Amino acid sequence: MSLRLSTIVSCISVVLASSVTSKGFIPFPHHQFDSRSWNSQNPSCSGSPLNYVVLPSLGKGLGVFAVRALEVGDIVMQEAPALLVHPPPFRQGMGYNVTEVGIRARAAFEELSEDAQAEIMSLTAYYRPAEARLPGFDLLKAIFSSNAYNTGADLGLFPKIARINHSCRPNAGYSWNAAIGKRVVYASRKIGEGEEITVSYIPLLLSVSERQKRLDPYGFKCGCDACAAEESARKAGDRRRRDIRDAFNQLERESISDLVNDKAGNKKAQQLARQSAKLAHLVEEEQLPDYYAKASRLAAIFHARIQDWEQATRWAQKSYELRRMADAESKETKEMHALTNNLIASWNNEGAKP
Ligand SMILES: [Zn+2]
Repeated sequence: MSLRLSTIVSCISVVLASSVTSKGFIPFPHHQFDSRSWNSQNPSCSGSPLNYVVLPSLGKGLGVFAVRALEVGDIVMQEAPALLVHPPPFRQGMGYNVTEVGIRARAAFEELSEDAQAEIMSLTAYYRPAEARLPGFDLLKAIFSSNAYNTGADLGLFPKIARINHSCRPNAGYSWNAAIGKRVVYASRKIGEGEEITVSYIPLLLSVSERQKRLDPYGFKCGCDACAAEESARKAGDRRRRDIRDAFNQLERESISDLVNDKAGNKKAQQLARQSAKLAHLVEEEQLPDYYAKASRLAAIFHARIQDWEQATRWAQKSYELRRMADAESKETKEMHALTNNLIASWNNEGAKP
C-alpha cells in the first residue's frame, strides 16, 4: 500500500499552475456606452453557424452573446491570434518594454490585410486622454497593450475574444491551446440562449472592493451579480472568497508535505480530506468555475491520502474532465489523467482484497 500511495503522491505532488489568466498586459476599458440590449435583436433567427454573436450589451459597450443554449464544456469560440508578437525580455517587476512591444506590433500589423487591420483598430483601448496628445502616440500600441494575452512564449491579440466582457461570476473559461494554435473559450457552466458570455479579466479570490480596484484600469465598474448584490450578500461573498483563498493556500502547502502514519497524522489526514471537500463545495457555491478543477484536484489528493478511493477517483475524474475541457493536450490534463488512472487502479486493488 505504501508503495502505491507514494507513487500516487509523487504523481500528484506536482503543483499545477492555475488556469486563471488576466487579460491584457496593460488594462483597458470594454464598457463605454449604453445601447440596445440583447432582446432588441435575437440572432437565433438568423441561423448563425456560430455559437455566439457580438451585440451591444446594456451599459457595457459591445458584448458576446450565446446564439443557442450551451452545455458545460461546449466551445463558444476558438480564435487564432490576429497579431502575434514575440516580446522583448520580461523585466521582473516592470513587465515588458511597452515601446518595444508597440514597435513589434506595428511591424506585424503592417503585414495584415486591410480587413484584418480594420477589425483590430475597432477594438477598445485604455489610455489617459493626455497620452493621446503626446507626440508619437500610437493607438495600435494602446489597443495591443490593452487586449493582448500571453500566448505561449508570445503575446497574441484575439479581436473576437476581446469582445467578451468581464464578470466576477463568469460563465465561460478560456485558455491558449498550443496544439491547435488557438485560444479557446468554453462554457464553464450552462449558458442559456441569449445569455451574455462572460470571462474573468482578473484573479477572483478577492473582495468586491479589491476586485473593483483591480478592474479600475479597465475603465468600468463591475456590475455583475456578485458585485451588484445587496450589502449582506456582498459581505457573505467576500467571506467565502477569503475562506476559499485561505483554504487553497493551506491545502496546496499540505498537499506537498510528507504523510505521517501515526494516530495524530491519520486524524489530520481525515480533517484535510473533509476540508478539501468543503473547499470544492465553497467554490461551487460562490460560482467560480475557473477554480473548480484546482479544488477537485486537491479533494482527490486528500481523499487518496485516507485511501477513500471512491471519493478520490470521483474528484480526480471531475478535475480531469474540467482540465480536458480547457485543453485536452495540456500538461495539467495529462497529469490528471494519470492520477485518475492510478486511483482507479488503487480502488480496483482494494476491491480485489480478500
Ligand atoms: Zn463583479
